Amino acid sequence: MTDKIDRREFIKTAVGAAAGALVVAHLPAGAAEPQAEAPQGAEKIFRGGPIVTMDDARREVQAVAIVGDKILAAGDEAEVMKHKTDATEIVDLGGKTLMPSFVDAHGHFMNAPQIVKWANVSGPPVGPVTKIADIVTVLQDHVKKQGIKKGDWIIGYGYDRSNLAEGRELLASELDPAFPDNPVMLIHSSNHGAVLNSVAFKAVGYDENTPTPPGGIINRMEGTNKPAGFLMETAFLPIFGSMPQPPEREMLDTLDAAQQLYASVGVTTCQEGATHAKDLAFLRKAAAEGLLYLDIVSLPLILNVPALLKEYAPSFQGGPMELPETTAQAFGHYKDRLKLQGLKFVMDGSPQGKTAFWSQPLLTKGPGGEENWRGQPLFPPEVVNKSMKEAYAKGIQIFSHCNGDASIDMMIDGARAAGIKADEDRRTVIIHSQFQRPDQLEAYVDLGFSPSYFTVHAFYWGEEHVTNTGLERASFISPMKSAAAKGLVCSNHSDFSVTPMDPMRMMWSAVVRTTRTGRVLGPDERIDRWESLKALTTNAAWQIREEDQKGKIAPGMLADLVILDANPLTVDTDRIPEIKAVETFKEGKSVYKRQPA
Ligand SMILES: [Zn+2]
Repeated sequence: MTDKIDRREFIKTAVGAAAGALVVAHLPAGAAEPQAEAPQGAEKIFRGGPIVTMDDARREVQAVAIVGDKILAAGDEAEVMKHKTDATEIVDLGGKTLMPSFVDAHGHFMNAPQIVKWANVSGPPVGPVTKIADIVTVLQDHVKKQGIKKGDWIIGYGYDRSNLAEGRELLASELDPAFPDNPVMLIHSSNHGAVLNSVAFKAVGYDENTPTPPGGIINRMEGTNKPAGFLMETAFLPIFGSMPQPPEREMLDTLDAAQQLYASVGVTTCQEGATHAKDLAFLRKAAAEGLLYLDIVSLPLILNVPALLKEYAPSFQGGPMELPETTAQAFGHYKDRLKLQGLKFVMDGSPQGKTAFWSQPLLTKGPGGEENWRGQPLFPPEVVNKSMKEAYAKGIQIFSHCNGDASIDMMIDGARAAGIKADEDRRTVIIHSQFQRPDQLEAYVDLGFSPSYFTVHAFYWGEEHVTNTGLERASFISPMKSAAAKGLVCSNHSDFSVTPMDPMRMMWSAVVRTTRTGRVLGPDERIDRWESLKALTTNAAWQIREEDQKGKIAPGMLADLVILDANPLTVDTDRIPEIKAVETFKEGKSVYKRQPA
């Protein structure tokens, strides 16, 4: 162990010395005293406002110079101005704040090109729905606006019982009178379930004879076996996976709007965090056509691996638990702005849908009225262990969706069974880690797990969690302070489109942890603003092994930058969610500029 650290230190020192040597030793011995070499010219120099570097010393600098796709210099204005030439553009921040642009630590990019075509049936502040009648109105407006024809699917997103005054799930029979000729699917806020109307049930072939699959939920009409409307997890995911897609050209044409959704809030690295085979084919086409100007990190779903790998290894015949030797070659590098980073595992569902997998029962009934409900895993442990062992053996990074503590235990057990240790630097990312137990933090340290938290949950569903799990369990949700204190690298995410792509609200939520009613959920787990920004920048970059290029302002880093209209480190806390991106740069090029109101 000591040996290893010493060697690393030695390499660092040696590399540093070599770099120094390059600067001082390019003169032939005995040459005359040199003229100071002119510093490299900058294309742009930013100055005139706070510049938040996100470096480890928590430095603010006065100016930043960039050239090409990289940062050339950052520091005192007089020093940075030495890089000014006649061709340099001086960008006066006018008091606005410059910082590294944001890295999406977990979300679903492929929802972006689709969501622009769907009806928003979310509750405030994301959408207008507070009762069942609102849903019908929103859908009727949507049909008119989009010119949806008889027989076409009507799709809504953001459905959530907790927004409804009625306090129960919507029924198919409540949609049928208004939509007798169209299949309707209202996707649950977790993206792990939906309400269907009767035409939709017919279209997908679900009726009273359809058994509930293991790991799935199908609510039934009381006293009958007839599907009531609401489905979740394995009863829903295959339906969603086989939904008719808009024509490919139409989807490709929405990619600019999809990327603007990210760039307009200062995000320049997006995640496609559960990529189906057909999505990857689409993204590869988009990349090859040069349609991507933001970086897209894709995490292929483990169950789709055989189909995905056909392209990389045509002879591959095995199942997801037998990866070919060459698998790793497909991962870890960008091609035309698209990168595969790791395999996506899904262990459970969502806490707000009550389909997370907990070790202790909820205080309320399950989604289908079950007593003593603690959720269920999506896959049995033997499948999980075998798949993890295989991915680790082939050197593939694992990203795993775990909301409940029992599903986190499954990942811990799987990594232990595979003999994984922290110093192997596997960077296994446990996405959500929401209902982590205090004792599991130590296991994360031992195994080198890295949590990607979902702190905005405290705002959107915090009160639900108190009702369902009690104040003590709910208060430890996304324990970022405790995790950081143990030295864990924590990121923070929106799980777009589960919640909106909104880094400033995410930052705020980790700092305040307030629910919709203003209750502070777990005051001990609040973190300071700098740590909160790290979770959206350099820590998120670390989880995808890009911390040497992204998330900090320092010479040699990519010029991925955002100008914000206020400084998130100093503005009033309540105002953090209102901060707007003014301009966003991807590798030095402006990719979004806010139009004056
Ligand atoms: Zn997700």
